[in-house]
Amino acid sequence: MGAMRPLVLNPLFGSLTGLPGIGPKLEKLYARLLDREAPRVVDLLFHLPSGIIDRRARPKLRDVVPGQIVTVAVTVMKHRPGPPHRSRAPYRIETEDDTGALTLTFFHARKDYLEKLLPVGETRYVSGTAELYDGMLQMVHPDRVVDEKGFADLPLVEPVYPLTEGLALGNIRRAMDGAVARLPDMPEWQDDAWVSRERFPAFANALRQLHRPHEPHDVLRENLAWTRLAYDELLAGQLALALVRAHMRRQAGKGTASEGRLRARILKALPYALTHSQQKAVDDIITDLARPHRMLRLLQGDVGSGKTVVALTAAAAVIEAGRQAAFMAPTEILARQHLKTIAPLAEAAGIRVAILTGRERGGDRKTILDRLALGDIDLLIGTHALFQETVAFHDLALAVVDEQHRFGVHQRLALAQKGDAVDVLVLTATPIPRTLVLTFFGDMDVSELREKPAGRQPIDTRTIPLSRVEDVEEAVGRALADKQRVYWVCPLVEDSEKIDLAAAEDRFQELRKKFGKAVDLVHGRMKGAEKDAAMSRFSSGQTQLLVATTVIEVGVDVPEATVMVIEHAERFGLAQLHQLRGRIGRGSGHSTCLLLYKTPLGETAKARLNILRETEDGFRIAEEDLKLRGEGDLLGTRQSGMPGFRIARLEFHSKYLGAARDDAALILQRDPGLATPRGDALRHLLYLFGKDEAIKLIRAG
Ligand code: ADP
Ligand code: MG
Repeated sequence: MGAMRPLVLNPLFGSLTGLPGIGPKLEKLYARLLDREAPRVVDLLFHLPSGIIDRRARPKLRDVVPGQIVTVAVTVMKHRPGPPHRSRAPYRIETEDDTGALTLTFFHARKDYLEKLLPVGETRYVSGTAELYDGMLQMVHPDRVVDEKGFADLPLVEPVYPLTEGLALGNIRRAMDGAVARLPDMPEWQDDAWVSRERFPAFANALRQLHRPHEPHDVLRENLAWTRLAYDELLAGQLALALVRAHMRRQAGKGTASEGRLRARILKALPYALTHSQQKAVDDIITDLARPHRMLRLLQGDVGSGKTVVALTAAAAVIEAGRQAAFMAPTEILARQHLKTIAPLAEAAGIRVAILTGRERGGDRKTILDRLALGDIDLLIGTHALFQETVAFHDLALAVVDEQHRFGVHQRLALAQKGDAVDVLVLTATPIPRTLVLTFFGDMDVSELREKPAGRQPIDTRTIPLSRVEDVEEAVGRALADKQRVYWVCPLVEDSEKIDLAAAEDRFQELRKKFGKAVDLVHGRMKGAEKDAAMSRFSSGQTQLLVATTVIEVGVDVPEATVMVIEHAERFGLAQLHQLRGRIGRGSGHSTCLLLYKTPLGETAKARLNILRETEDGFRIAEEDLKLRGEGDLLGTRQSGMPGFRIARLEFHSKYLGAARDDAALILQRDPGLATPRGDALRHLLYLFGKDEAIKLIRAG
């Protein structure tokens, strides 16, 4: 059986421009909304409602609660267009019922259109979110305006979707209608007995119920329709992981024994001794490598716990046996930093190192690739560039993947396939609660770095309102005078990278004025070489105060940095703040982290910042984070930095994880080739959830 997508699924894999109301321009907005470059119909279908509009109750204006979506019947009283020369000023329409008044507000609106839509003296039904503005009830861009007849045709219950700027609810609904209409007949892939026990609707029916709800209750996450889809998603994930695992186990793996000559040289060149848990991790890995099965090991350690050197000793073991290792980092900055840390140690051990990123081009690139193919490079450090097709190793034995959560299973596989039964070591600082390791990484062996290297001092973390930023600047000034090094992080707000950049640049200018040339700036829009230059100026001490956007979030290592200022800390996720803070407290000096927040701070935000003040334990922070995150927050939100799911929500569906895992194991035990009718149905599932890469791993026959 081939790895072809089942034909019945084709309508779901077309581009969104095939749906009503979506052209190339809107497609871009959908790409942002769905977080996918070229979204397909299936991606839209998986964009589930955040709630509903219930038109069954129609409050009088007097009873409208601001902030809620309502439908009201109002009489149009007066049109108030904005002044003619100020196109940005809104167009307002005053309306009322017998209990109160409501202003309808439109931006960039056409007068003739609005006069037709809302004629003075007529009654109209308008639906949208009512808010208080200057003490008056108003509604900006009502999402429905209809007359009596239109109201009769209006669905009484309509789904509401998470939106992105520029995309209207009406547009999503229309497109979604088209998408739902495309749902084909598909075979049931879940076990029949399980489906009836759980009273799950069929996959397509579940989607229909969520996108065309009749009751508020239909769109709840804990309800059967949503849960059914969540279970599908969990099963697809577990099945894909199980297939990857089975595939890797089948490739027997070579044993790579080493006496530890190179390792000894590296350890001798280090200015410190390994911690107990580093030593233990090294032992685990060396033992794995020597065995004739494939290694799949996760090295989990909080920020600053010293994962890099452990990975290097692993590489040394295979290199000693005459084979090669690859070390893959998620960003250019990190790849270069790894090179910088590793190069002197490698030299001491006689290991030949090179770097390959998008920046090595032309002749340089060719030389590297040639040497790699000949086996003249022992250790290749790089970014995604490492698993491009043109990269061929002479004998790749070990792939180290740093900060794995940024890579998908696909990429991990691509790298592992560059050699013969490559051993894989994944490094992660994401403090994933133990219960979740399985979901994200599958059945990997785990080594943990529990202790911090000796001599580290606790970080003094304080929360300060933004209004006191001048005091903070003064304190920073004192630190600079004291020859300390300082990070100053400005946040990214998802929707407007430009504004963020402006904020970081403004702050940079201001600090520059105060503190002069010691101040530097680094952000994600800079070219790779510029970023490196800024980082190395900071790392060498040429500059002392580095204003940055979150590009410094992961992995950057400047042990001399002792102060971290984070502006608008309330906008960051806890895990992200923890990662950022982990950039300091790496040397023996006393470190301080200042979390600047904008007032007023909500209860949850306050609790979150307090956790950071209380502890530096990444696991505890992750667990508290989970507790605090409320309903509606995706398991995979960017905020938390956790790799994610589109449908399954931790709070409601994690209890199904174990079942999905057992189910996947059982399926492959009975039907390893997915060749039975149920196996065939499961292939549909894998395609729908984008796990089809795993299908290629099924043993032929
Ligand atoms: P992470 O686990 O966050 O990737 P790194 O590997 O970057 O951590 O190590 C953080 C810092 O700690 C580096 O400066 C490294 O040289 C240092 N380090 C690593 N192991 C030890 C140790 N056993 N004793 C002292 N310092 C160490
Ligand atoms: Mg690291």
